[in-house]
Parts: sequence; structure tokens; C-alpha cells
Amino acid sequence: MVTLYILPDVNARRESLIATRRDLHQHPELAFDLPRTAGLVAERLTALGLEVKTGVGKSGVTATLRGSAPGPVTALRADMDALPIQETGDTHYKSTVEGVMHACGHDGHTAMLLATAEILAEKRSSLRGEVRFLFQPAEEGDGGARYMIADGCLKGVDRIFGLHLWNYQPLGEVGVRPGPILAAADIFTVRFRGVGGHGAAPQGTVDTTVVAAEFIQAVQTIVSRNINPLDNAVVTVGTVRAGHSFNIIADQATLTGTVRAYTESNRQLIKQRLRELLAGLEKMYGVRSTLEYEDGYPPTVNTAEETRLVTEAARKVVGTGVGDPYLSMGGEDFAYYLQKVPGCFFFVGSAPADRPLGSVPHHCSHFDIDERALLVGPSILLHLVDALHGGAKTPSKTEKKTTGGGK
Ligand SMILES: [Zn+2]
Ligand SMILES: [Zn+2]
Repeated sequence: MVTLYILPDVNARRESLIATRRDLHQHPELAFDLPRTAGLVAERLTALGLEVKTGVGKSGVTATLRGSAPGPVTALRADMDALPIQETGDTHYKSTVEGVMHACGHDGHTAMLLATAEILAEKRSSLRGEVRFLFQPAEEGDGGARYMIADGCLKGVDRIFGLHLWNYQPLGEVGVRPGPILAAADIFTVRFRGVGGHGAAPQGTVDTTVVAAEFIQAVQTIVSRNINPLDNAVVTVGTVRAGHSFNIIADQATLTGTVRAYTESNRQLIKQRLRELLAGLEKMYGVRSTLEYEDGYPPTVNTAEETRLVTEAARKVVGTGVGDPYLSMGGEDFAYYLQKVPGCFFFVGSAPADRPLGSVPHHCSHFDIDERALLVGPSILLHLVDALHGGAKTPSKTEKKTTGGGK
């Protein structure tokens, strides 16, 4: 039994919210290539009389809602892209696109932000300042947020909020905390060059398989010996390639892996230690090495005041269900916005109630959500906007809370 305090305006849109999410779910699009999704979003926002811009960050859409009095500028963000996964679930709103699927919940994010924009557009006269809706492409790997920022989507913005439907938490829970909430996600490639030779005559060779083995062992000490044990970090070697034959000493080895860290300083520390370990191996074994280090998304780090605002707003919707998030070392390009302006990214519990918690993870081919979570997100965003922009004319208390939506 979950009790949710869904705002009446959101409850009134229940059918259309679910219908929009299912429509997007049936027609998923990838990365920056979102003609149908972005088209639908732009059309709905234009119909509300908002100032709409398309082609922001290649294929994103922004819309500005100006209140009737001066005030702060708040950005609310949703991501629109799907994943290259063949859906295996058997819902009637299953993906109609071969090999493409909304397996992260971005269909829900888009539907929720559209509903929020619709409700706020009707309340324009009672709002102060400006609410800007950001619908971004390419969260899944290509960093669409960076392109949106480069196109000026944060110009004049005082703070930003974003949310993720979160199947690691049940309906009625909201996960939020100040500081890091998702990790930096980097990629590294190490190449060793040695001296090959006959497997029976190692003298005079520099065996890169031995060096690679030593490197794999050594990198384990970065997290276990260099990182503060109270911090979170991961170094994983994912691939190792060396050699061509059982009796030939390999003159080259290539390894790839990923680094995850919650803080920029730990990320830099890991990068530094990788370089130092390689320098040590060069001295010890006479091998030559190169390190290619590709910075992925930075850590997603929430600011204190904005986290407090989200916590307050979320308590009005899920009561005591607000708490620490189910943390993950995944990455999120919302991090780029938070590098520019204060803000908060939070998780809305959406695990399907009829299956064991954790059995429908994000990016899996049978992904689905508890659609009642679609009512939770907009309710929280509306409380946030009310706290920051409310009361332009009447000291509006029209958004009375009622019990509903939960079963
Ligand atoms: Zn994802
Ligand atoms: Zn996602």
C-alpha cells in the first residue's frame, strides 16, 4: 500500500500522461536522431503558447514560460533518447522499431515534463520569473547536454532540476542527496610495446603478456590502497588482447577499461595513479607504454540548497518516502548542467510492483516501469516551481494536495 499525494492537476492528466509515454515507447529514437520525438514535443509546447526553439543541441527543444512578474529563472530538463536494444517484453505498447527501445525510462521523462509544462502554462499569471523546459537529445553516451549548453540553453538560468525514473527503488520512494549522486564514467586504453621472440627463448625479449598481467594486478591497488575507503570508486579492466600463437612471446598488448568516481579529485587521482603505475612498469620491465584516457561524463553533483528544495517538494508528494538514493556508479550527462549552475538531480522510484525489486533494471530488454510514477515526477516539479515562482498575483494556494493515485 503506497500513499501518494498527487496534485489534482496531475491526476486530471493521468490518461494523457500514460498515453504520451506509451506513444513514445512505441516509437523510440536514438541519440541525436529524434525527428518524431522532438517534433511531437515541439508541437505540444507550441500549442501551449510558449516560446519554443528547436534544433537546440542539434535536435533538442527548449520552451520558455514567462510569468507575470519578475523573478528567478528555473530550468527543468528531460532527456528524449532511447537505446539500441531489442525489446523482449510483451506489453501492448511494445516498441515498433526493430532493435531500438526505451529501456531507460526517457519516454517517461519526456511525458512528465510535457505534462508539467501544460499545467504551468495555465498558471502563467500567478508565476514570477521564468521556467525553461529543456528536452535534450543523446543522453545515452553522446553527451547531448554539452551541445544544449553550447547553444545557450542555460543563459540566464539560476538553477536547474532533473529527475530519473528509478527501477532500483519502489513506487513511493524518492532518492535524493546533496553532493555526488552519479559517477564520472571514463574510458582508458593502455598499449604495451615489448620485444617478441620464441616462446622457448625468453632471454632478450620483453614479454607484454607478463607486463599486462602485472598491470591488471597493480590497478586493483588504486581503489584498495589509494582511494579513501569511505569514498566510492571503481577501476575495471574490461578487455585484454595480446599475442597470436602459443609459442611466440607477444610484443604488443592492449587493454581497455573504465574508471568510475564520485568526485573530480578521485577521478584525477586515479588518472594520475594509472600514469605512475605505467611509468613503474616501464622501468621494471623495459616495456614502452601509452595511455589514452577519455573523459566521459563528469560526476553528477547536487548543490545543498537545491537539494533541500527538492527534498521539501518530494515530501509533499511521497511523505516519508524521501531518502537516500539507491546509488549507482553509472554516469549521467546532467552533470554538465550542474557544472554550470546550481541544481539537483533526483530519482523517482518506478520499479514494477508485480515483480521482485531489482529484477527489471535499466537498459534491460524487458524494461518497464510502474506508470503511477509518472504522476509523482510532475507533482514534485510543480511543488518546486510553486516554491520558487509562486504567488505573483494571488498568494496562490490553489494547488491543494489530495490523496490519490496510490493503491
Ligand atoms: Zn540509461
Ligand atoms: Zn537514463
